[in-house]
Amino acid sequence: MLPLAQGLLKFSHCQRDVFCSRVPPLCPICGQSVVASWRLEEAPVHVPCPFVNGHREKCSFLVKPTRGEFLGDYDGDSDLHVGITDTSGVVYHYNETGVRGDTLGWEQCVSVPLVPPDNYALIDQWDGYLTEHAASEQWLPHRYSERDHNCCSFALRFINRILSLLEKPPLSTTQFTERFVLPRTRRASKYLSVCREVSQHGFYAVHREDR
Ligand SMILES: [Zn+2]
Repeated sequence: MLPLAQGLLKFSHCQRDVFCSRVPPLCPICGQSVVASWRLEEAPVHVPCPFVNGHREKCSFLVKPTRGEFLGDYDGDSDLHVGITDTSGVVYHYNETGVRGDTLGWEQCVSVPLVPPDNYALIDQWDGYLTEHAASEQWLPHRYSERDHNCCSFALRFINRILSLLEKPPLSTTQFTERFVLPRTRRASKYLSVCREVSQHGFYAVHREDR
């Protein structure tokens, strides 16, 4: 399924959006030549991949499967792991071994930027805040609890510290998940299920969304 990540296309025919990795000469629904009847708005477009290389994302919240990668391994229900990047793409995250700073392993993530790119004052201080947060005793290995003191607690407590610096109210876990995480992981799941269909059947067609 992996090659699809680089090349998921969408075109319109027969009132449907047809997803594929390569545009076929004939429409898989009606069997007519695909190109002959094309209007501009029906021409193929590249579907952007919802995953980014987390090590290239500054000051961001990252989500990835605990094991494996989204493309190929994620079934929509697998455990997810989260972390926060510093200004050079090192990912700080908390697990049963304590806080780690990874320079590898987060190449395929869903990313949520946490700082407006023009907030230089905050960006300047970011790495200091993050290493200070990571060094806190509350993130010692023995404090870890998969249920309620985990990677999300680590990330969210840091995000709330940043929010308080910006004089904004803190977020509960639910608020954070619903506002920032779920919309993106839903989009990622949808993308993955389209990739799966395309790799199994060569194409995937849905009735066209109104536009
Ligand atoms: Zn057709």
